Amino acid sequence: MSRHHRAQKWSTHSPKLRKIIQPQLPQKCIDCPHPVMPTDKWQVGHRNAAGTGGPPTLANVGPSHAWCPYCRKRCNQVAGGKLGARISNRNRNARRDIREW
Ligand SMILES: [Zn+2]
Ligand SMILES: [Zn+2]
Repeated sequence: MSRHHRAQKWSTHSPKLRKIIQPQLPQKCIDCPHPVMPTDKWQVGHRNAAGTGGPPTLANVGPSHAWCPYCRKRCNQVAGGKLGARISNRNRNARRDIREW
């Protein structure tokens, strides 16, 4: 129950932060030197990974390209390397568990 609750609480933060960040675009991607344009696909990225104690506050997050046309890479998924990937994989698995149950 607590795991479910925590996951849900976390997932409500990002959409909220998205809405705050969206009108501020273009803004520099937190994971590369290029701007994220309002028309670009982007994700809420964390300067300090959420899993390592970084709070989901505006000061700790920023836009990160879902696909940077300059770097030709997915900034958000490259950033933080294995740790970030492990966290998002875990979240994805947790969510899938909840749906199946
Ligand atoms: Zn980028
Ligand atoms: Zn870039």
